[in-house]
Order: sequence, then C-alpha cells, then structure tokens
Amino acid sequence: MLKKVTDETIQKMWYLRGIGHSYESIAKNLCLGKSTVYRWLTPEKKLKRIKYKKIYSKKYRKKNKEYLLLQNKKWRNKNQTYIKIKHKEWRENNNERWKEICREAMRRYSYKNPDRIREINKKYRQTPKGIVYNLRHINTRRNKFPIKLSVKDFDFIKQRDKVCIYCGSSKDITLDHVYPNGATDLTNLVLSCRSCNSKKRTKNVFSFCREIGIEVPKIISQLKQNSSTP
Ligand SMILES: [Zn+2]
Repeated sequence: MLKKVTDETIQKMWYLRGIGHSYESIAKNLCLGKSTVYRWLTPEKKLKRIKYKKIYSKKYRKKNKEYLLLQNKKWRNKNQTYIKIKHKEWRENNNERWKEICREAMRRYSYKNPDRIREINKKYRQTPKGIVYNLRHINTRRNKFPIKLSVKDFDFIKQRDKVCIYCGSSKDITLDHVYPNGATDLTNLVLSCRSCNSKKRTKNVFSFCREIGIEVPKIISQLKQNSSTP
C-alpha cells in the first residue's frame, strides 16, 4: 500500500523539484511511488502546487534550514567538478557581467580593507612583473608609444647586476634609466633600489655618483660601450 501523502511530503516534493531533482529521484528520496509523485507534480496540480508552495515552501525552508544547508554542502562537495564546469561556462557566456561582478567585489573589498590593498599593491610592485609593468606603463604614458619590455628582460638585468648598482642594497629593487632620456631597454636599464632611484631622478649618472661619493659602477661604462657600437 502506498504511503499517505501528507502536507509535509508535498512540500518536500516541491522543494526537491525546485532544486532540480527528477521525479524518479524524488520518489526514491521520499519512499513514494513514482505515480504519486507524478500525480502531485503534474500540470493539473499546478494551481494547487503554487498555492501550497507559497504557504509551505517558506515555512519548510525556515524549519529545516540546517538540514537544507547541510544537504546543499554535501551536494556541492560531491559535484565540485560539475559546478566548476558550469561556472566556467557561465563566465564565458556572460563575460561582461562577470567582469562587472569582479569589479564590484574588488571595489567593495578595497573599500573595506584599504590597508590590505595597499600592502598587496606594494608587494606586487616589488615583483618582476610589477616592476616591468610599472615602468612600461609610465614610459608609455610619457612617450605615447608602447614600450616593449618583458619580465625576461628584467630577469636578465637582475642576473647581470644582482643588487642596486649604486649602494649594493637588494631591498626594494626597481629599474633605473642610466640616461634619463634614453631608451627603455637592456642598453639603458640597471638595477637600483627605490631610494637611490628617487635620489638620482633626472640627474646625470656621473655627477650623481660624485654626489653620493662612489666610483662610477663598471656596468655603466660597459653599457655605454655597448650602446655606442651599433
Ligand atoms: Zn641603492
């Protein structure tokens, strides 16, 4: 004999249908006959369903909040790859919307955590990518034509110079233009710490060395030779 269908069972049926279960799985879940489920979920019952749904769905969700959350979590854990694929699909199809969401979230986050953002930016500016990007960005804006400088170039310069060529510090490394109006490439860039770089600014490299009381680093004469030979 079939179980008597109570209001609660009906609510559960609607709930499960609402989160995408098939009739069969609902029947299995609630230990009901398939025909019973069909009967309650077929279009003829639609009006009644809507009425019931309005009244009970909210109540049911409120009453079984923890259970439902747990079920949800379980389902998510079980179907992680499926969720990932679906998410990816959605992001690809709604690229603009996704970007907007990211921007909004970022704005909200940075509004709430300004210090954290400053810290992240500071850290990023010290990575090779950050240094190169920063320099490229500034130079492009000044000269109004794009500068080709890659992270590989930075790695090359770093391997060549190793530390700040003016004071020998390895902290807070940046790229410095030896000749301020020269090219932004391997022939005119050296490693320099932020403090030396900001002290030097647009000064001539030789008078700067004299000013801080050091000999002109070897690399500078090498660079000059390289750049003068075509
Ligand atoms: Zn320095």
